[in-house]
Amino acid sequence: MAKTSTRPEMPVQEPEVRAHNFDEVALGLDLETAVAEAERCFNCRNKPCVGSCPVNIDIPGFIMRLKERDLQGAYDVISQSSNLPAVCGRVCPQETQCEGVCTRGFREKPIAIGYLERFVADWHNEQEIEVNKPESNGIKVAIVGSGPSGLTCAGDLAKKGYDVTIFEALHKVGGVLVYGIPEFRLPKKIVEKEVENLKKLGVTINTNVVIGRSESIDDLFEQGYDAVFVGSGAGLPMFMKIPGENLNGVLSANEFLTRINLMKAYEFTSETPIVHGKHVVVVGGGNVAMDACRSAMRLGAEKVTVVYRRSEEELPARHEEYLHAREEGIKFHFLTNPVEVLGDDDFKVKGIKCVKMELGEADESGRRRPVVIEGSEYEMECDVVIMSLGTTPNPLIKDTTPDIEVNKRGGIIVDEGGKTTKDAVYAGGDAVTGAATVIKAMGAGKLAASSIDEYFSNK
Ligand code: FAD
Ligand code: SF4
Repeated sequence: MAKTSTRPEMPVQEPEVRAHNFDEVALGLDLETAVAEAERCFNCRNKPCVGSCPVNIDIPGFIMRLKERDLQGAYDVISQSSNLPAVCGRVCPQETQCEGVCTRGFREKPIAIGYLERFVADWHNEQEIEVNKPESNGIKVAIVGSGPSGLTCAGDLAKKGYDVTIFEALHKVGGVLVYGIPEFRLPKKIVEKEVENLKKLGVTINTNVVIGRSESIDDLFEQGYDAVFVGSGAGLPMFMKIPGENLNGVLSANEFLTRINLMKAYEFTSETPIVHGKHVVVVGGGNVAMDACRSAMRLGAEKVTVVYRRSEEELPARHEEYLHAREEGIKFHFLTNPVEVLGDDDFKVKGIKCVKMELGEADESGRRRPVVIEGSEYEMECDVVIMSLGTTPNPLIKDTTPDIEVNKRGGIIVDEGGKTTKDAVYAGGDAVTGAATVIKAMGAGKLAASSIDEYFSNK
């Protein structure tokens, strides 16, 4: 029997416990709760939720199967559109996508689509499922980067019989899913499972290969690849260019999170050097800033403060992650901007100087521009400053492949099918758009796979 008729709360680890461990915070629904939630879905004829999902998952289709307790059927519906449902069920901003337009949400709370997707995907990952390797069509495709765009493009092409090889610069596969998003939000074993399935489909993965250094895109064509997809992400961190940013103890959020995620700095027995600050200040307000501040707390900081130049309403991070951060004891200084990092005689961080801001006229993004309040300077003591101000695409591919054109923000220019200015080279994800979301990167990987298939079908 179904348990409830209102949207369920996600069971979570208690804040005072989870603030000191890296285990997953959200624990997942049980079958009865998931079925009860599925029963709340109207199975709307116009399916607004589907149109709001960047990969157009047949959401009512999978929810109806879940309602009938046909979990394999529910998974089959999701997997027609998404290769990474266990990932998306955890990290997608559903509140602004499918759940944001859910008909049920007009009068009460929307269907917990993300929780249900996660439930079905987790059930599937626990089963022993055979993956059949499709017959090869003999066409070789190289994928640069193993983030969600590269993995999705690889999976879709492998299912169609393409001979796919992924080249990944790092020693671990998964892009931001493994080096950026921390274990407590996305356990690495979930990404590993998805990668295992790709290998079963026949995808070859070469790690520790930096395209543009180890070999160029033109070298890949010389080696016999017929097409290339570039999903190299946007891993180049931005800084504020304020005095003191070169002091010991100032890090980019990317470096901080990569060291924790890939070099096991979160295990207290690890020998990987990482600064364990007592009072850590994180500058920025996005998902990356939330991951950095919550990781700093888990590394043992006594106090963690987030400094964000706009107000709480403009915070770009997912609301749930912000609330989780607050519950874990993170302090927030809104409408505040650093102007200088202060150092001691040994060039180590000893504090940060900030100014207070107020919101003025709207800028080109439509958000009200923060303006400095004169004479509002103040200092805060801290020993680590983590800059989380966004990232841009790394220029390496562009610099070594001049016929691939980029825009003024460094994003690779593509047509509506994901094709770059170079013949047989496609691109997608953050490398094209700049830092965005997992599901958008997956959508771009899917689009490019379909364009590559069309290109060879027409040949
Ligand atoms: P990436 O995931 O960046 O993968 C690119 C891969 O290419 C990397 O593995 C990189 O090592 C490799 N590479 C780069 N250059 C080369 C080269 N020259 N040769 C070979 N390999 C190369 N999105 C959400 O939807 N929800 C979230 O909650 C969320 N949280 C985030 C938290 C953090 C800390 C970060 C950093 C991002 C977060 N995002 C989130 C954004 C999301 O993860 C990205 O938009 C998404 O991963 C982009 O996918 P991608 O495939 O384009 O690139
Ligand atoms: Fe169900 Fe909401 Fe989608 Fe309607 S909009 S089909 S209620 S999930």
